[in-house]
Amino acid sequence: MTDAAELLLRVREFLAAHPPATTERSDFLSARFDAGLAWVHYPAGLGGLGAARSLQAVVDAELEAAGAPDNDPRRIGIGLGMAAPTILAYGTEEQKRRFLRPLWVGEEVWCQLFSEPGAGSDLAALGTRAVRDGADGDWIVNGQKVWTSSAHLARWAILIARTDPDAPKHRGITYFLCDMTDPGVEVRPLRQITGEAEFNEVFLTDVRIPDDRRLGPVGEGWKVAQTTLMNERVSIGGMRLPREGGMIGPVARTWRDRPELRTHELHQRLLTLWVEAEVARLTGERLRQQLAAGQPGPRDRV
Ligand SMILES: Cc1cc2nc3c(=O)[nH]c(=O)nc-3n(C[C@H](O)[C@H](O)[C@H](O)COP(=O)(O)OP(=O)(O)OC[C@H]3O[C@@H](n4cnc5c(N)ncnc54)[C@H](O)[C@@H]3O)c2cc1C
Repeated sequence: MTDAAELLLRVREFLAAHPPATTERSDFLSARFDAGLAWVHYPAGLGGLGAARSLQAVVDAELEAAGAPDNDPRRIGIGLGMAAPTILAYGTEEQKRRFLRPLWVGEEVWCQLFSEPGAGSDLAALGTRAVRDGADGDWIVNGQKVWTSSAHLARWAILIARTDPDAPKHRGITYFLCDMTDPGVEVRPLRQITGEAEFNEVFLTDVRIPDDRRLGPVGEGWKVAQTTLMNERVSIGGMRLPREGGMIGPVARTWRDRPELRTHELHQRLLTLWVEAEVARLTGERLRQQLAAGQPGPRDRV
């Protein structure tokens, strides 16, 4: 497996067996995962077919044209773009089977507990501590994280913590999968000037994490985190925005909702901004499609 023609056939058979119009959204997504059409470059049995990553565009286009529901990638972006590839690269078989399916289907939202008040750009300076309770026991985690997007929605978090304060700072870190519903995890929203609260502070007080939720070896958390961060760059760069999906959205909504504020000058400025946002969005989308199809992007032509 698999070339584009074979894949298209497989998608059409899948659609015939699970017509989007009459299949429950969650049933459709679960069946799509089980059919290996979730992320085709993942291994068989974990939502994929071991196919070339670029072939995902073939699946997505065919499903979109058939009116199929998606897994709301904006809501679960941290799981899809960052937690999943890290679990795939470093997880045990049991961790992969436990976490990847509910993550992709959207049943479990993930967040990223990396940044701290004293560890932003210099992430390896992080102070959150994980201390083992006995030689083979659970890890007890204490510390504070900040700027945690979606922590208020998340069931799980990717977490890095210091396990060896005597080692050089990049070496003393270990990577964990943290259950956000565990006792000792407290999420406090950070309200922005827009009134929204997308980010949070997260306080961890004596949070008990079993050793089977450690991802990768003890002390190798910095290396594991590099996989997350490399994938974060790719996933942010490849994000698909719907029309009015960025900051232009609230501006356009305010224009529609508050006619008493309208002036000719504001109308002109709004139209200019709206067109610029839409051109940027469509240009990005076209580039994303070109790259997914293996066609050269602008940098290749320089
Ligand atoms: C939209 C958004 C969402 C985020 N979501 C999450 C999340 O879900 N989970 C998470 O863990 N983190 C998240 N973060 C945090 C992010 O990953 C970075 O940790 C953070 O933006 C950088 O840290 P800081 O804000 O403490 O800035 P600082 O590290 O304090 O940097 C402040 C400024 O100083 C500059 N600077 C820093 N060090 C140096 C230096 N040595 N030399 C010269 N200049 C320097 C920086 O470039 C920057 O301009 C998010 C951030 C944003 C903006």
